[in-house]
Amino acid sequence: MQPFTYVKPSTVPEAVLAVAAGGPSTRFIAGGTSLYDLMKLNVEAPTRVVDITGLKELHSFDTSGSRELVFGALARMSDVAEDGRIKRDFPALAESLSKAASQQLRNMASVGGNLLQRTRCPYFRHGEPFACNKRAPGSGCAAQEGLNRGHALLGGSQACIAVYPGDWAIALAAFDAEVDVIGQHGQRTVALNGLHVEPRDTPQVETVLAPDELITRIRVPVSRLGRASTYHKIRDRESYAFALTSAAVALRLDGQTVREARIALGGVATKPWRAREAERTLVGRPLTAEAAKAAGEVAFRGARSTEHNRFRIELGARTVADALMIARQRV
Ligand code: SF4
Repeated sequence: MQPFTYVKPSTVPEAVLAVAAGGPSTRFIAGGTSLYDLMKLNVEAPTRVVDITGLKELHSFDTSGSRELVFGALARMSDVAEDGRIKRDFPALAESLSKAASQQLRNMASVGGNLLQRTRCPYFRHGEPFACNKRAPGSGCAAQEGLNRGHALLGGSQACIAVYPGDWAIALAAFDAEVDVIGQHGQRTVALNGLHVEPRDTPQVETVLAPDELITRIRVPVSRLGRASTYHKIRDRESYAFALTSAAVALRLDGQTVREARIALGGVATKPWRAREAERTLVGRPLTAEAAKAAGEVAFRGARSTEHNRFRIELGARTVADALMIARQRV
């Protein structure tokens, strides 16, 4: 690990200034559950680290609103996962947090930082001698012909097929959440569904955020979609593992008929992935097991597999179908 300077501002404007003054190799740090790992692996080598845990106004969250839920970026994953209203009225959000990482990590990690975690692609994390366009642009992609069991089926490119690893962002994508950010040029709001970008020819670019921009809040619109929702995660073991496939599903039903459906896929794409065509197939029809199965198949219609990950197309479609059946029970 290379030496770095450490600063701990106490206000948001101070934090923004500290990052701007440090230049492009400066990083924000909150819970530290991701950045420290990457620094030890020499994937990240910041010259300055700006600790934002002293920004008190970003630690709270409010789930009492009738129009939106508001989460400060530094709210802890474990606290949000255990919030009574979230568990009752937005179970997909609570489940996406409680199924992520271990309890110890959830106690440390922030809901803002969690959105920005980087891929678990082993070639990216382990470095030389493996080629990796994300770590070293232009070097190639060892995963294309290598061990790619966990790599992306959707949204990949010749340059990169790394999966976005998060769970929380998948549930937020289903609920059309928004993210407030601030940087040296001011504040703006980014739709969660537009926060992450596909790799195309520049896999080192993972979000639309500028290097100096800080996530301050996550906001989720309150709607009748909340209660009939679930985050269904399939993994190699039932604890402390990343998704082989996952689906965040939310429904608004009128009797047995679907009035509105949301489906977001995790563990299978290069970014949080809304399956909008699959959503459309459900609207105006009874939600039967057959309709759910068909929607799952539509969700993976554009999937492109590599040598070792083909099995996850059917697994992903079944995950969507099962999630729809689980959500239907919660109306
Ligand atoms: Fe690197 Fe992406 Fe290829 Fe993995 S899939 S080796 S992160 S370029």
